[in-house]
Amino acid sequence: MASRGVSVQCSACGSSFEVPNDVLDGEITSCPNCGMRYIVRLRNGAVTLEEFRGDIEDFGE
Ligand SMILES: [Zn+2]
Repeated sequence: MASRGVSVQCSACGSSFEVPNDVLDGEITSCPNCGMRYIVRLRNGAVTLEEFRGDIEDFGE
């Protein structure tokens, strides 16, 4: 089966990588090249990356 992903670009190192087509809004992904972590944001079906600063809401305490 074909693995279809959405191509995104790392703003830290400039390399492109893919996230799964069915990635969820708010999911954490990381650049396979430099390890920069991002939060996936879906807007009208377009995938954008937001820098993960480690301060997203904690579930629980
Ligand atoms: Zn990178």
